[in-house]
Amino acid sequence: MAAPVGAQARKLLRDLALRPPLLAARSQVVQLTSRRWLNLQEYQSKKLMSDNGVKVQRFFVADTANEALEAAKRLNAKEIVLKAQILAGGRGKGVFSSGLKGGVHLTKDPKVVGQLAKQMIGYNLATKQTPKEGVKVKKVMVAEALDISRETYLAILMDRSCNGPVLVGSPQGGVDIEEVAASNPELIFKEQIDIIEGIKDSQAQRMAENLGFLGPLKNQAADQIKKLYNLFLKIDATQVEVNPFGETPEGQVVCFDAKINFDDNAEFRQKDIFAMDDKSENEPIENEAARYDLKYIGLDGNIACFVNGAGLAMATCDIIFLNGGKPANFLDLGGGVKESQVYQAFKLLTADPKVEAILVNIFGGIVNCAIIANGITKACRELELKVPLVVRLEGWKFARLGGTGVWRQQEMRPHSCCSNNLSRGALPFRSELPGSLLLHALDTIELEASESR
Ligand code: GDP
Ligand code: MN
Repeated sequence: MAAPVGAQARKLLRDLALRPPLLAARSQVVQLTSRRWLNLQEYQSKKLMSDNGVKVQRFFVADTANEALEAAKRLNAKEIVLKAQILAGGRGKGVFSSGLKGGVHLTKDPKVVGQLAKQMIGYNLATKQTPKEGVKVKKVMVAEALDISRETYLAILMDRSCNGPVLVGSPQGGVDIEEVAASNPELIFKEQIDIIEGIKDSQAQRMAENLGFLGPLKNQAADQIKKLYNLFLKIDATQVEVNPFGETPEGQVVCFDAKINFDDNAEFRQKDIFAMDDKSENEPIENEAARYDLKYIGLDGNIACFVNGAGLAMATCDIIFLNGGKPANFLDLGGGVKESQVYQAFKLLTADPKVEAILVNIFGGIVNCAIIANGITKACRELELKVPLVVRLEGWKFARLGGTGVWRQQEMRPHSCCSNNLSRGALPFRSELPGSLLLHALDTIELEASESR
């Protein structure tokens, strides 16, 4: 059990907020499910940073090996660092489907950049934070490498428990910060920032000191921290993570890596940033779902799940697994639902040829059951649904549907009749869910629930 559910959780985390920075933030991430958080690639984040006075290395972006080679020559640097661009961390220790180890490589020879890029672009890179099969690399960053004498960790994030932004830092950076938080919690430092007053000099100085920057480096680090905070506010970020936030033997404080997440509610005033959204790492069906404000996660079983809320989605997947079935996907409907979205949701769910049955498991809290019922009716009629459907509605307005017979089936077929063409265990839960109805598409379900009745 642990494995498949763990995999769901990881995939969900990947989709919702890649590279969550800290323990506290990880639990936050799971709660914030019905929102899509914009993620930018490292090179895009670094462009924003350098435009705002934050120190990053000189770099070019390439999408072919040849371009990477040319970029390496053009950089004319003592040493070059080549970095695969994917929306996940842990690249340094990742492995490519080409066999190449490491998504971050240092070399002095531009020709080697070309050879390495050839083994990166077009291949999948698997890291601790990607799905098992990895994520396809379409671009690489070719940057001037700098020597690093010390790696620290710095992040700025919106933190619920602080009711605002918080600076998080550790002198032990470069590595997996969650390990530091677990083994050496005393090495994690926080500064809560008053969003109205802004970051104080004393806070930036204290953080720089806690990160271990000494002498003139302390002022430099504090200055970078302030600039990063101002950028965080200006671009409506929910998280800016720099790991490593490093120093060079020449006495420079440099952001060697960058990860920025954005508040989707701010899209209206951050149009330029949202226009950079690289949706190519998503499945096309995920993008299609996003157009209707639906969250689609593809899985590899044969039961489509239509649910509301990520918690119920996970629980539903667990129920299916526990009963020997396998979810084909889940589609999270979120809160303020319209009938047309239900229709679109069904269209998406049934577009997947793996789907042999659909389970609707909706709790009417914010959404009302009548809207869902009407959406399902419309979808069943117009899409000529060919697969069995199990509907479980509970909550607001459900009584109107079930209780008064408004929601009526012309025929309720026995389980065995519908499951002829299903692989074993496809519909294990009919009797497990109170209030569930087994409906067959061809029965032309007569659902006429309306709010006025
Ligand atoms: P991540 O593994 O996805 O977090 O990618 P990073 O950008 O953090 O790179 C991984 C590691 O490569 C860093 O922690 C550094 O140790 C190293 N690295 C990255 N850029 C440079 C560089 O310019 N010079 C040196 N010496 N090391 C680098
Ligand atoms: Mn990093």
